[in-house]
Amino acid sequence: MDYDVIVVGSGLGGLAAATTLQRGGMRTLLVERHSVPGGAATSFVRGRFEFEVSLHQLGGMGGHEPLKAVLDDLDVTRRLEWLEDGDLCRTVVPGEVDVVLPHDWKAMADVLDGIAPGNRRAIERFLRIVRETGLWQLTARVSLDRMEEQLQWLRTLPDVRRHALRTFREVLDEFFTDERLKIVLSSYWSYNGQLPHRIAFVDMARLLALYVETKPYQVVGGSQALSSALVESFEEAGGELWLNTVVDRIVTRDGAAVGVRLGDGETVGAGLVVSNAPSPTTYTRLLDDPDVVPARTLRDLRSRRLGSSATCLFLGLDASPGELGFTASTTFLSAGLDERAILRGAHSLEEPCPFMIVTCYDVRPTGFSPRGGSQVVLSSIQYSEPWESLAPEEYARAKDAYARSQLDLVESLVPGIRDVIEEAECATPLTFKRYTDQPGGAIYGFDQDITDSWLFHDEDLRQNVPGLLLTSNWTTAGGYNSNLVTAARRCRRLLEAGQ
Ligand SMILES: Cc1cc2nc3c(=O)[nH]c(=O)nc-3n(C[C@H](O)[C@H](O)[C@H](O)COP(=O)(O)OP(=O)(O)OC[C@H]3O[C@@H](n4cnc5c(N)ncnc54)[C@H](O)[C@@H]3O)c2cc1C
Repeated sequence: MDYDVIVVGSGLGGLAAATTLQRGGMRTLLVERHSVPGGAATSFVRGRFEFEVSLHQLGGMGGHEPLKAVLDDLDVTRRLEWLEDGDLCRTVVPGEVDVVLPHDWKAMADVLDGIAPGNRRAIERFLRIVRETGLWQLTARVSLDRMEEQLQWLRTLPDVRRHALRTFREVLDEFFTDERLKIVLSSYWSYNGQLPHRIAFVDMARLLALYVETKPYQVVGGSQALSSALVESFEEAGGELWLNTVVDRIVTRDGAAVGVRLGDGETVGAGLVVSNAPSPTTYTRLLDDPDVVPARTLRDLRSRRLGSSATCLFLGLDASPGELGFTASTTFLSAGLDERAILRGAHSLEEPCPFMIVTCYDVRPTGFSPRGGSQVVLSSIQYSEPWESLAPEEYARAKDAYARSQLDLVESLVPGIRDVIEEAECATPLTFKRYTDQPGGAIYGFDQDITDSWLFHDEDLRQNVPGLLLTSNWTTAGGYNSNLVTAARRCRRLLEAGQ
């Protein structure tokens, strides 16, 4: 056996697993096909600007739980400079509503009360249920192996039991009639990729509770700095990282994973293989013997749908955040109040998505822009099908048209933004598919709506093939917090179990 563990892929799920295991005393090899570690947690350079690819706001860093504890444990927190956002977010529907939400429940209730006076009691009750549900969810999702404990707690939370598996929209409609209030309360839906009429209340409550309870953070140097800090800790503990190295197959013997075969044909052996590649790819493409995957795991895989990707317009602007009118780093901008139009736009190129996250990375300067300049990224949820069905010769035109429609929408927030563009780069679901090898360029793995919440899939938690552990967007709820925390905790439990 060459190593105790081989980790395939250095996305956040892979990095957290490799660092936990190496620091826990297991000789670990981390293999990454790309020339830089981090997967989607990375950046790229155009002209004078370094662009953040995926991190909008990091939850879980305030206080000691849950992400902060994991990064402390991995000796990563101290290597980075963390900046707390001054506010939760700004939500704008031109002509309807324009509010900045604070990251404090009481102050948030005051702002919401100002939008639709007369709703104070309903607002306070609603936020209490969101908080209770979110806190339960945050704990439950990373400790499903202690289900009995979670159920005991749940028995003491009647409101959580009543609302958790309804859609967020249904619960909103029960509490409020004012559409502007509902839009503002739903602001964070896009961080899960599911609109309020499709997302489970429990999942939306988790997002809100995460960002309000632990505050939204930026990190200087962006997500690449986070990935590099994990690599530093991993290597300091003696771990080995092989970049520009593709794992062609996971090698099995007698039904168990025993190593990997690399792109150049070399075989490397290990007692445990951890795959950070997507689970559909791992189970159906990487294993040298597909018969080792249990039938129930394949059935579960077939029952699931591909999640959303995104279209992002990365803008390097020759103007400061103040000149552009940004006081919050994150703005959720919608052209109207009709969420069905947003869903149609997410599935089509005919009707551009009338919603975007506008992130300005220089309100709390993260070190990406030249002095006096700003980096602004416009992100819309997009599924890959319309892009996959384009003829190759239509792609450049479609991408250009999409970028222009995103600029039209953001002009309603920042008039004249076109005049200060110094760099512009548009990424589509096909871009994310190409760079990260994620099926459909999916950014959070499977589509996790009310009909298919993470709660219904214990397959993700098992070691379905002996000697093989999966940890990525496809085995968690997806996203930074969830990937890092879940990967680290699963590996810690392996260490504790002496495997
Ligand atoms: C545009 C965009 C916006 C996002 N916005 C947010 C957000 O606002 N908030 C949030 O929490 N999350 C967001 N995410 C999601 C977040 O980036 C991911 O959840 C996170 O980075 C973890 O991803 P991962 O580890 O599952 O996979 P990845 O980051 O895709 O990493 C997988 C790695 O494995 C490597 N690999 C795969 N197969 C092989 C092989 N056979 N051999 C060697 N290497 C291999 C790949 O090259 C890659 O580096 C966003 C993602 C994108 C793309």
